[in-house]
Amino acid sequence: MKNYDGIALFSGGLDSILAARLLMEQGRTIKCLHFYSPFFGHPGRVEHWQQVYGLDITAVDASAPFVDMLKKGPAHGFGSAMNPCVDCKILMMGLAKAHMEEYGAKFLVSGEVLGQRPMSQRRDTLNVIRRDADVRDILVRPLCAQLLDPTAPEEEGLIDRSRLLALNGRGRKEQLALAEKFGITEIPTPGGGCKLTEKENTRRFWPVLSRIDSPDVNDFRLADVGRQFWHDEFWLTIGRHKFDNEIYADLIRGGDIHFKVAGFPGPIALGRSSRPWSEEAVREAASLVASYSPKACRAAEEGQRISVRVTANGQTNLVEVPPRRETAFLEPTWESARDELHALRKPGKSCKA
Ligand code: SF4
Repeated sequence: MKNYDGIALFSGGLDSILAARLLMEQGRTIKCLHFYSPFFGHPGRVEHWQQVYGLDITAVDASAPFVDMLKKGPAHGFGSAMNPCVDCKILMMGLAKAHMEEYGAKFLVSGEVLGQRPMSQRRDTLNVIRRDADVRDILVRPLCAQLLDPTAPEEEGLIDRSRLLALNGRGRKEQLALAEKFGITEIPTPGGGCKLTEKENTRRFWPVLSRIDSPDVNDFRLADVGRQFWHDEFWLTIGRHKFDNEIYADLIRGGDIHFKVAGFPGPIALGRSSRPWSEEAVREAASLVASYSPKACRAAEEGQRISVRVTANGQTNLVEVPPRRETAFLEPTWESARDELHALRKPGKSCKA
């Protein structure tokens, strides 16, 4: 474990591959850490990446510290959606730094390129990340190192600065040429796939952060499954297919309410809230759940009574309701999430403001 020169933050993107490979070309031994959470990362791809990119990669679960950072309110604010990129990078650097002793590493590596991203890769922001993660002397950015001040490993001769690069801006031409030189034929698509940068996912995750008291990793995993509905602080998620139902079985916990239409095929739904459910909220949720059972809807039209099995804390009750789509539960919109996020633009403000 202790025979690595450096630890690289490995996202799976081309820049992170090239940053590690550049240093390996100099004979440095690099351990790549792939951080993942409900929002980003693909730990299931690590084995494949190791084979196609010739890297030594370990997946590290960053879910809990990442959610803690979100809850506190990212000190450097959010990006265009719910992405706290600067705080995310500071956090990842800190987590990587904490692994240095374990791997015997003397420096950290990241694949940032000066000017590539508007928020997190400006020169001043790169300096803020280095400072706030307390990695000023040990963080090497091989792709743009020649545009930055020399770091300790370069000055000490552990890394040959003349063989590092001076990449700048958003183009990928030079990266693609370098990939070809290294014999890399499987080029990852740009973008990285962080869910927090997408409107569709912000719509799902933002209500959890803003309406649930002290949300945890399980909450954000639940927000990523099925259809999402909110009625004040009452949260209802309705499965779309069998696969969703299996995930619910994994995520359900004490205090949750389980809904399933009785006597007809239909989806499973989970209700969750930081406060006890009102009778009105349960009935509204049950009506909505029943509306997603086509057979129950048809039976209701023919005059049959429809009940939903509602299970909470080990007790099941049958709640008779008309199947209805128009209820107090609404799907959160990107626009409402965006407006609330804009109100929070001031860095460091808590998300429960
Ligand atoms: S895009 Fe997502 S994973 Fe990447 S730095 Fe931003 S918050 Fe972190």
